[in-house]
Amino acid sequence: MLVIALFVSAEARAQTAIRASCHADGGIAPEQLVSAAQLAAIPWTCGSLDYGSGATRGWLHFLPEDLRAADGATHFVTSISRFDRITLITLAGERVLQRRSYAMDDIRLFVNGANFAIPLPDAGDATSVLVAVERAGSSAMMAEGAVQRATGDKGTLGWSPHMLILLAMLIGLLFAPLIYNYAFYLVLRERFILWHMAMVLGMNAYLLVSSGIIHRFANLGIGALAFLNHMTFLCMVAAGAAFCANFIEPHAISRRMRDLLVGTGVATLIFGTWASLPIEATRDLGNKLYLVGFLPIIALFLAVMWQAARRRSRAVWFQIYGWAPIIALGLERIVRSFGLYAVPHWGDQLIYLTLAFEIVLAALGVVDRFEVLRRDRDKAEARIDSLASLVDRDALTGMFNRRALEARYPDLRADGYTALAVIDLDHFKRVNDQYGHAMGDRVLQETAAALSSDPDTISFRLGGEEFLMLMRGPDIVERAERMRRAISIRIVNEIDGIDAPITASLGLVDTTPGVATTLRRVYAHADRLLYEAKNSGRNRMLSERIQLFDAPVRRRKSERRAGERRAAGVGG
Ligand code: GH3
Ligand code: MG
Ligand code: MG
Repeated sequence: MLVIALFVSAEARAQTAIRASCHADGGIAPEQLVSAAQLAAIPWTCGSLDYGSGATRGWLHFLPEDLRAADGATHFVTSISRFDRITLITLAGERVLQRRSYAMDDIRLFVNGANFAIPLPDAGDATSVLVAVERAGSSAMMAEGAVQRATGDKGTLGWSPHMLILLAMLIGLLFAPLIYNYAFYLVLRERFILWHMAMVLGMNAYLLVSSGIIHRFANLGIGALAFLNHMTFLCMVAAGAAFCANFIEPHAISRRMRDLLVGTGVATLIFGTWASLPIEATRDLGNKLYLVGFLPIIALFLAVMWQAARRRSRAVWFQIYGWAPIIALGLERIVRSFGLYAVPHWGDQLIYLTLAFEIVLAALGVVDRFEVLRRDRDKAEARIDSLASLVDRDALTGMFNRRALEARYPDLRADGYTALAVIDLDHFKRVNDQYGHAMGDRVLQETAAALSSDPDTISFRLGGEEFLMLMRGPDIVERAERMRRAISIRIVNEIDGIDAPITASLGLVDTTPGVATTLRRVYAHADRLLYEAKNSGRNRMLSERIQLFDAPVRRRKSERRAGERRAAGVGG
């Protein structure tokens, strides 16, 4: 609330920047303009907000009432962007008083906000002012172009000093998440925390550049400032995408979607860098496409949020609320870049509020996630402890037995163990026949040891040489396959005197989290996959993801294969 109040009051004090009443695209070259007839021949539009693109040449005409409204204008002020040439012409009536041309390198006066200022020649005698911008790097240069009066020192030009204090406060505020995130990282070691820090750093760099606070520390030209302005924002977006991909619970976002989000973040960064580079041949195209380049990442953010929300992610809501204002503003900005309309100055400054809001929400999200992870771990540990009783153990291997599985399955499922694998040793009868029953027992013990190496997996011996694993966490298919192969390796390494490798077949199903189902149903699926694995040659894994639905009325149709079927591991 305080921030919003300050924001509004800051705006109230920055009213002296007056935009041009009239503007035009194209028209005569500014150095040739000498007569009133030529001035009238420029295709002026007055009173509308459609500022055009300014791509080749844009004109602004500040009428006498504009100069008066600015309380006696002394400077032309606009936002930092590349351009070829800016020509200022002061007029007394219809007579040209002064004409000055500026290239990018001539600009020395950087003022509050991402703005620069050019003094108006003969400001005292001028009754109106013409500004011609050749090849403006953004339509904002035309839409934001304003006349302003410098009072006292030049520090009063551009955005109001209050706005600047506000932004400086925001930058200060953003250091807090950096510090406590580091502390979280030491405890949790989760990658999303690092990405959150990268995102906050990018945001801070963007604020530093786009607020113009950077002018107080570094003496950079327009080209460098325009480039940095884009780059810092792009880095923030790419880090934000990586943060989102890692922050949302693994079960709530498919692997493909996660990779796509990260990849699009990187692609946005690369594309935006190209669009911002001062390559002469592609500059106009780059200017035109820079903002449009954000559309794919916006679309992907929306798709990820949709998927994660449907899969009952808790973390995603912090992302949805945090990003919604930024995405809304971004889309508005992209639409506006087509030059159809303009908004008051504070329209673009809202971005700072939305960025601050997103950081606060993301920070809350990290804290919340920290709590959930901690609670989860405590609960799971308590559950495992309760499994420790002797009647729940298999005598030969020390593993949990079928009884333990049946008693605890609903609780373990609620704890996120949504994947179930059934494992059966191949041709185990031959081992008994060939090497004796005692050797067979040893093989079973080593198999048990190979299956208990993963903290997010709980293994059971169902009986005979059949085992079952409940799994959760990322990369379940890969982990299951790794453990299946580990059986053969472990037996070779630990038991002397077995010539032929002993292999195992595995059937794995992963199910929708958050939906109640029975052990019998999930087991039946996995067992059928195991049976198919045996039939298609043994020594392999078959896995399937099953989509479960809540709808109790359509119970029989409520399970279907989602087509993510795969086989792995033929030939060990
Ligand atoms: P496949 O699964 O590849 O189709 O062939 P298999 O030879 O493994 O088939 P099956 O499941 O019929 O054989 C299981 C054998 O496991 C039969 C039984 O003698 C043996 N067995 C069951 N429990 C134990 C045990 O506790 N110790 C030993 N040594 N053998 C066991
Ligand atoms: Mg077998
Ligand atoms: Mg068997």
